[in-house]
Formats: sequence, C-alpha cells, structure tokens
Amino acid sequence: MSYSSIEKRLAEGKIIILDGGIGGELQKVGAKMDEGLWCGRCSLDSPNELLKVHQNYIKAGADVITANTYASTPISMKKYGYEDLIQECNYKSIKIAKEAVSGKNVLVAGSVSTYGYFMKDGVAKMKPSFDEHLKILSDTGVDLIILEAMSSQADIVETLVECSSNLKLPTWLSISCVFDKNKNIHLGYDDVSHKDPQVYEELEDSLHRFKKFHSGPILVAHSNMSVTEEAVRILKNNHNNIIGAYPNRGHFVKPEWKFTDDIKPSDYVKSAKKWIDSGAQIIGGCCGIGIEEIKAISILKN
Ligand SMILES: [Zn+2]
Repeated sequence: MSYSSIEKRLAEGKIIILDGGIGGELQKVGAKMDEGLWCGRCSLDSPNELLKVHQNYIKAGADVITANTYASTPISMKKYGYEDLIQECNYKSIKIAKEAVSGKNVLVAGSVSTYGYFMKDGVAKMKPSFDEHLKILSDTGVDLIILEAMSSQADIVETLVECSSNLKLPTWLSISCVFDKNKNIHLGYDDVSHKDPQVYEELEDSLHRFKKFHSGPILVAHSNMSVTEEAVRILKNNHNNIIGAYPNRGHFVKPEWKFTDDIKPSDYVKSAKKWIDSGAQIIGGCCGIGIEEIKAISILKN
C-alpha cells in the first residue's frame, strides 16, 4: 500500500487505524527498558519482541504502524551516553517495522518526537537535533513521518514543525492536550495521578502558530481520554485538514508505563466512536493502549 491510497481513503471520509503504544506492549512481553531511553533501545536489545509487537498490531487491524523511534531522538541518545548508536538504533527500528509490514497493506511511520527536549536546552540546540532525526528517518524510506510532540511547550512544537516543513514525506503532527482549571483546552499533559500537571499555551493559539509550517493531519495524542473528544472538536474547527486521536491510559513511573485506570476494549470503542463523531478519521492508541484496544476499534474501519 502506498500513502496515496491512505490519502484517498481519508479524502473519501473513511477511517484509518493507527497502532497503539509500543513501549507498553514491549514491557508486557518482557523487553528490557532503559532507565534513560525507556523503550528507545529495544531495536538493539529486544529486536524479536519488537517485531512481534508490530506483527500483533498488524493482525489487530492497524493500517499504519509506528516504528520504535519515539525515544531514540539524537538529543536523548546523547544525554544518556548512546551518541555512537544514534544511526544504528534508528535504522534498526525502521528495518524491523519494515520487516513486519512486508507483503502487507500496511504503512510504516517514523516517529520524530520531542522526547528528551526541554526549553532549558534552548531552541538553537534543538533545531540541528530535530533535523538530524528527520534526515535519518526520511533516508530510510519510511512512508510518512509522525511528529510526536507529546506534552511539549508550544515553542518546542513550533520548532519541530518548522524543521519538518521542507520534508518531502507526508507528515502528521501529534500533540497532547489538557484541561485548565476553567475547562479550556491547552497544550500540555496531566496524567491520572495528577502529580505534575503541565498546562501550556491555549490550543487554539498554538494551532494558529503551527499553521505557518504544518498544513497536514493533526492528531490529539498522549492525552487523557477525558479531554480527547473536546480537543478533537477544537482541531476540527480550527484546522483545515484530517484530524485524528490516539490517547493514553495509565501513567509513567520511569522507566515503566503503569497500566492503571481500567478501561475495557469495549469502552475504548465507545470513546473512539465519539472522536469519530467529532471529526477524527485517524484513530489509534498511545501509552497504555495496546493490541486488544486496537483490535476492538478496527471494527470502526469502513
Ligand atoms: Zn503516550
């Protein structure tokens, strides 16, 4: 399958299924998590488990799988002492994802994320690192790039989308959303433990600045399910392209994802229907959402 067939299906108003979280599923099958890079080294340390996770998502009905490059950003690999492995680790992740889709009607997305980037690093330091990751992944022949700007401040997201603006590949943008005290939606994140809520710029203002550099699909990702439906609606009203959703459940206690807040796959389908009713066409799952949930929502494909 080529990206143009996905584009065609989206233009016809159809639903595309994205996979679920990779890190959580790798944990479940006993892959080794790194203290700094989380699941970022699994292509090197647990390649068989990684292949299995991708294959399971494909069996579950995913049209697009995400290569395990979310946590192997150049900046995080440098921070944690793996500078020499930046290329090898990312190439290997793409190779494993491509092996999983071989002969199937499924596309591989490369994830270029904001993992390990902080405002104190300064935008000037971020740019070359984002450029490096985008180049590594686009050189491997992935079908599309997902900019996974999870729980990041608007300035960081804006820098990432700016760096991606000259890419020759289809590019989706994923952002995390959170309610403020007045129930307005902002960029940011607040997990179910409510220990460290991060509330950044108001979503509508951020969308306005991302517009300069990004006109492709935008997805609400790595967000609480409670905020997702309303965030999809705001995206639909403010962004003139395809909208998607792949929220979370549970929370992170480094280096592992905790699968708290019990959501049955059938509940996930009910929520996914609401996101679709609000305008989402690409649906999947992020941290804590796994094979069972993706299998359940794949009945919504049309
Ligand atoms: Zn997530």
